[in-house]
Amino acid sequence: MTKFLWITALTLVCLAASAQKDKKYVDETVTRQGVEAAISFIASDELRGRDTPSPGLDIAAKYLSTSMLAANVLTVPGMNTYFQDVSMVSSSPPTTGIFATSDSSYSIANELIHIGGSPVNIEAPLVYAQYGTEEDFANLDVKGKIVVVQAGQRKDREATSAFKAGASKILLAQEKGAIAVIELFNSPQPNWKILRYYLNNTKVALDYGDQDDEYIPHIWLEDVNNNRRPYFESYVGNASLTIAGNEVKKFISKNVIGYVEGTDPELKNEYVIYSAHYDHVGVGEPDLEGDSIFNGTRDNAIGTATVIKAAENIAKYPLKRSSLFIFFTGEEKGLLGSEWYVDHPVVPLHQVVYCFNSDNAGYNDTTAATIIGIERTTAEPVLRKAGEAYGLNTTNDPVPEQNLYDRSDQVNFARAGIPALMYTMGITDFGEELTRFYHKQGDNPDSVDYEYLYRFTKTYVLACRLVGNMPEKPYWRKGDKYYNAGEALYGK
Ligand SMILES: [Zn+2]
Repeated sequence: MTKFLWITALTLVCLAASAQKDKKYVDETVTRQGVEAAISFIASDELRGRDTPSPGLDIAAKYLSTSMLAANVLTVPGMNTYFQDVSMVSSSPPTTGIFATSDSSYSIANELIHIGGSPVNIEAPLVYAQYGTEEDFANLDVKGKIVVVQAGQRKDREATSAFKAGASKILLAQEKGAIAVIELFNSPQPNWKILRYYLNNTKVALDYGDQDDEYIPHIWLEDVNNNRRPYFESYVGNASLTIAGNEVKKFISKNVIGYVEGTDPELKNEYVIYSAHYDHVGVGEPDLEGDSIFNGTRDNAIGTATVIKAAENIAKYPLKRSSLFIFFTGEEKGLLGSEWYVDHPVVPLHQVVYCFNSDNAGYNDTTAATIIGIERTTAEPVLRKAGEAYGLNTTNDPVPEQNLYDRSDQVNFARAGIPALMYTMGITDFGEELTRFYHKQGDNPDSVDYEYLYRFTKTYVLACRLVGNMPEKPYWRKGDKYYNAGEALYGK
C-alpha cells in the first residue's frame, strides 16, 4: 500500500469513526415511542387537519415551539420567540354574482367565475376593449364604465396565461378609470366546470398589501365557443353587475423557527436549514367510513416529527455548522410559508449553505428512504451513508413526472440559489398505495408502520448530522438548473 493510500484509508477510518459517534448520538436521543408520540399528536383528530388558518394549526405550532423549548433549542438571536409572523389573506367567493345587459343575464352559479375584486352593485355603460392592452385602451374612454375584453393575449389564450395576463389588465383598466372588467374566457382546457370548482373557492395567499378589496371586480364569463364575443363587440348600452357576499380576511399564520449554534469557530457562520411543513388541508366531506378529518399523517406529520427529533438531537449534541429548524405554514395553499421565509429570512440567505427539507406524500417501500434531488448536490455520499447505517436503501426520485421537487418547500430555497432537497419515505411509484392515502380522510396516525418510521427518522437525524458536519461546504453539482442561482447568491 502506498503512502497516499494509507492517508486516504486513514481519513476514511476517521470519517467512519466520527459517523459512528454521530450514530451513537442519534441512537441515544431518538426513541421509537418518541417518534410515535410526535406523529400521533400532530396528526390527531383533535388538531382537525391543521388547515391554514385554523385553531388546530395554532395548537400544532405551540406543540412545536414548546417541544423545542423543552429540548433547549434556542430562538434565533434577535427574535425572542419561535414564531415568525406570516401575513396572509383569505378571500371567499361571492354568494351572489350577476352580470346583465339589456337582454341577457349571467350568473355566478353557471357562466361566471369571480377572479377577484371588491363587492359592487353597479349599473354603467358597457365598452368592448379587445384584449385590454395599452393599445386597445388608447382610443377608448373607459372611465366609469364596465369593460368587456377577451381573456388571455392575442397569441396565447391558455388558461394559466389568461390568469397571469388578467392581473395586469385589471391594473391597467383600473388606472384608466374602469369600474369592472369582464373577460370572455375561451380556453377549452381546463374544462369550465373544473375551473369553477377550483376558482369559486376560498383562496389563501400571502398578504403583500395588495388584497382584493382594493381592486375593481374581475370576472370571467364563459365563452368557449366564441359565441358571445360578436354580441359584446356590437353591444351599445348599459350593463349591471352585482357581486356580494365575498369576504377578504387578513390573518397572521406562523412559521416556527428554532436555532442551535455551531461548535466550530469558522463553520458556525454557516447555517443548515432542517425543515418541514406542519400544515395540512383541514376538514372536508366525510368518506365512506364517515371520516371527515384529513389528518395528514404522511403529509406531513411524519416529516414534522423527523425535524423535531433532529432539533432535540442537535440541541444536545450540536454540529459544527449552526442549525435552523423551520416548520412552515401554508404549504398546502401553495408553498406560502417557505415563500414568505425566503422573502423575510431570519439569517442572511447567503449564510445558509443547505436546506434539507422533509416532506411526504406516502410510501410503499419500507426498505428505503427516498431523497428527491439527491443527485443534484455534493452531499450525496453522506446522505447515502446515513441510510446504510440504519439498513435503509437511499433511492432517487422514482416519479420525476410527478414533479415532486417543485411541489414542496425546498424549491423556494433552490430558486434563491441554496442547495436544497427533499427527504421522503420510500416510494417506487405513485400508484394505488400512495393515492389511497394521499390527501385523503383515511390518512390516520394508526395507519402507518412505526417500526419503519423509527428507522426512517433515525436515518434523517443522522443525515442532518452528517451534512452539518461535512468538512466541505455542500453545493450544487455543476450543470444543475439552480447552479447559477447558487453562484449569484454566494457571490462566486
Ligand atoms: Zn407535504
